[in-house]
Amino acid sequence: MDDHLEQLYQEIILDHSKRPRHERELHPCTGRSEGYNPLCGDKVTVFVREENGKIAEASFVGEGCAISRASASIMTTLLAGLTPEQAHAKAHEIYEMLTKAEDPALDLVENGEIAALAGVRKFPARIKCATLAWHALEDALHGEDS
Ligand code: ZN
Repeated sequence: MDDHLEQLYQEIILDHSKRPRHERELHPCTGRSEGYNPLCGDKVTVFVREENGKIAEASFVGEGCAISRASASIMTTLLAGLTPEQAHAKAHEIYEMLTKAEDPALDLVENGEIAALAGVRKFPARIKCATLAWHALEDALHGEDS
């Protein structure tokens, strides 16, 4: 990854961690789940509201490092309109992007801001920070009404 791109990605992560999108509780919601990453101390609660078989809205509250907050924030911008199946598929794309051996070919145009998280691959200890909200989302999609 060239330095310029890396810098751009860092700016995206910083922007989302400082000014997270959809950082609030969601009432009413159809599912919620909490995630905790003991390696870093990140905590996140993800809320989803499903309507007619699709995600109408998603939000989160939490505290943690810039990567965990940026990942949760970017995630909430990607979910509206997806079916739960599509959201699970998206989550698995992210896990694969962060853990597979080859460098993923990602760009901002095709993949959106999620591409910015690919840089975390270089820091295996931080991968859990980036996946925390996505795991909570997957649990929330299984969740009961609250
Ligand atoms: Zn973290």
